[in-house]
Amino acid sequence: MGIKKNILVIPGDGIGPEVTTWGKAILEQIAADFGHDFTFDEALMGHAAIEATGNPLPDETLEKAKKSDAILFGAVGHAMYDNDPSLKIRPEQGLLKIRKELGLYANLRPILLFDELLNASSIKPSILKGTDILFFRELTGDVYFGEKVRSEDRNTASDLMIYHRYEVERIAHKAFEAAMQRGKKLCSVDKANVLESSRLWRETVQAIAKEYPEVTTEHMFIDNAAMQLIKDPKRFDVVLTANLFGDILTDEASQIAGSMGMLASASIGDGTGFFEPIHGSAHDITGKDLANPLASILSVALMLEIGFGLKEEAKVIITAVDKALKEGFRTNDIADETTNPYKVLGTKEMGKLLLKYIAQTTYTN
Ligand code: NAD
Repeated sequence: MGIKKNILVIPGDGIGPEVTTWGKAILEQIAADFGHDFTFDEALMGHAAIEATGNPLPDETLEKAKKSDAILFGAVGHAMYDNDPSLKIRPEQGLLKIRKELGLYANLRPILLFDELLNASSIKPSILKGTDILFFRELTGDVYFGEKVRSEDRNTASDLMIYHRYEVERIAHKAFEAAMQRGKKLCSVDKANVLESSRLWRETVQAIAKEYPEVTTEHMFIDNAAMQLIKDPKRFDVVLTANLFGDILTDEASQIAGSMGMLASASIGDGTGFFEPIHGSAHDITGKDLANPLASILSVALMLEIGFGLKEEAKVIITAVDKALKEGFRTNDIADETTNPYKVLGTKEMGKLLLKYIAQTTYTN
């Protein structure tokens, strides 16, 4: 049975519009193939919005965002702000504000390794092969939002690491629900041997784990998790962790995956979800048809799976990406000396190829 969803596309700046064009095209293709009714609207954010309205997040964008079922975002940023940190109105303010206004408390980052790109990582292919991890990083608590103090003589400082039980509960439920849809394994990462906030974290996750008896739950200290991620990344399925530990672990994990142009992320709360590539606006390649659209396309797969519960549709996209790579096709950022030069594609050609493969896969099924 087809479903009906309103999707807001926020292309943003730089390569954002170039890559989201293909994310949207893939959504249209999937809707046609599976009989879903996806309607699209578009809105401004970042530098593009500042130019048009003076505001990095115009009220109109926020209203459209709140009414939508999911948002496909590109990236924001422009060289003029990078070169002048004193500018008061900045593109990234739009991004921070929309995340807050939508109540997004969990950041999801899949680390999915395609066999053909195993050599792009600095870790041995034999260790990486088969890695498929979904990180859940908490976004609203921790040292980022606790009280910050500096002594009068400026020689002592502290940041309060604070968590409320409800903050742990709501993200834990999301992570367990995702684990149920995947490999039914969840690893909660904390530092409960030292930190009181981690002890609250652990006891809360332990209590919620009882509601998901099919999921094998493991608790790991952050120092060990950082090591295991490099030593044996395949052992992880869903990883659930707090804001600070998640910040560090997800960056570590993005490096095991190789290129920026291949990684998607989602920020979710109890309403509209926000789906985006992890890369920025990449001024150096803007307008040159060099941007890899696969991170945006994989963000769409995440939207379908996590946002709408459409697992089969998400799989079709991932299979198509895998097929393009297996056939030897690459964008410039993921090509190396072994790549056939005739198979190095621009943004548009790669987008079109994916559309073709998706149509073929759904037809074959
Ligand atoms: P970046 O991610 O834009 O680019 C880093 C490097 O990776 C560049 O060499 C770029 O060409 C390359 N790259 C990134 N995405 C690619 C893709 N899809 N295909 C091929 N190559 C790709 O990071 P940066 O250079 O540090 O920042 C550029 C701008 O982006 C800045 O203004 C920054 O503030 C902004 N930014 C925005 C976001 C966001 O909107 N979520 C995130 C990070 C950076």
